[in-house]
Amino acid sequence: MQTKILLIYTGGTIGMAKDYGDQSLKPFNFDNLLKQIPELGLLDCSFDYHSFDTPIDSSDMKPKYWINIADTIQQNYENYDGFVVLHGTDTMAYTASALSFMIDNLEKPVIFTGSQLPIGDLRTDAKENLITSIQLASLRKKDKPIIKEVCVYFEYKLFRANRTTKINAENFDAFESPNYPVIGVSGVHLEVKEDLLLKNTVTEKLAINKKLNADVGVLKIFPGMNRSFIESVLKAPNMKAFIIEAFGTGNIFTDDWFIELLEEVTNKGIHLIINTQCAGGMVELGRYATSDALLKMGAISSFDLTMEAAITKAIYLLGQNLSKDEFKAQYEANLKGELRHHFYND
Ligand code: ASP
Repeated sequence: MQTKILLIYTGGTIGMAKDYGDQSLKPFNFDNLLKQIPELGLLDCSFDYHSFDTPIDSSDMKPKYWINIADTIQQNYENYDGFVVLHGTDTMAYTASALSFMIDNLEKPVIFTGSQLPIGDLRTDAKENLITSIQLASLRKKDKPIIKEVCVYFEYKLFRANRTTKINAENFDAFESPNYPVIGVSGVHLEVKEDLLLKNTVTEKLAINKKLNADVGVLKIFPGMNRSFIESVLKAPNMKAFIIEAFGTGNIFTDDWFIELLEEVTNKGIHLIINTQCAGGMVELGRYATSDALLKMGAISSFDLTMEAAITKAIYLLGQNLSKDEFKAQYEANLKGELRHHFYND
């Protein structure tokens, strides 16, 4: 039987065409998709599409739109075998990571893709990205989907969504998964590395968690940073969590005033999360004396989370109204394949 795929179009370069009047890129009517990519008619699956009423540049993405996408998946879940979300590349890693946390009991593929050049452009990367994403969403074994998680497909590579980060504003090869291997490759064969996929044993119906709270602050530190700037950030009203982008394995400068400010933060019940500025590797609090104070004040380690996953995980968990201890336990746990506590060779 032919698989049925739902394309969810949110906006981004992939669906834009050049306005030859003012030369700017504008979202085009998605009805024209088949005309732009006649190859879609050759696919061994059928598909429908659902478009945002007003497609957006992904720089305008917000949690309320994450909920829209999740709702669309939930409402159409029984009628389709897989979902392909067309999204701008700029914040794709955030939306895809957020969706991975928000959706529970997923047994079908949700593949995010986009492009660096619009679909109508002669040298576009949109066609390959879209066609292969639909094929990946259609893959089945013993009449069951092979992929049962949220992924990003871009430029011949399939990634776990909550491991991705956009690393290039210009190259077609724009995404990377610094701490988890690529889970599929499109070459002569479409190869999915099944041993690296999430293995969900699902006993309950698909559920979407729509309670989100974005009262999260991010502070990237650098040598010689201005004290009053840090004070104003860490004393900002109504914050529920701060993520410190620390050095290396989670190290910070040890000036008394900075440590005292961080203690004040945790004493107020604000969650203090430590991430690293390094693209690869992980936070290990207490490895160096320069993170001892963080360990003592009970700071939360983000281990090897990408910044996108660190932020969206905080937004998701803040919405669940957890106690301080539960929040830390959940944050440091591996919920959806987003985090490891040790590297493979440890
Ligand atoms: N600014 C665009 C967006 O993220 C870039 C892209 O789609 O590649 O929506």
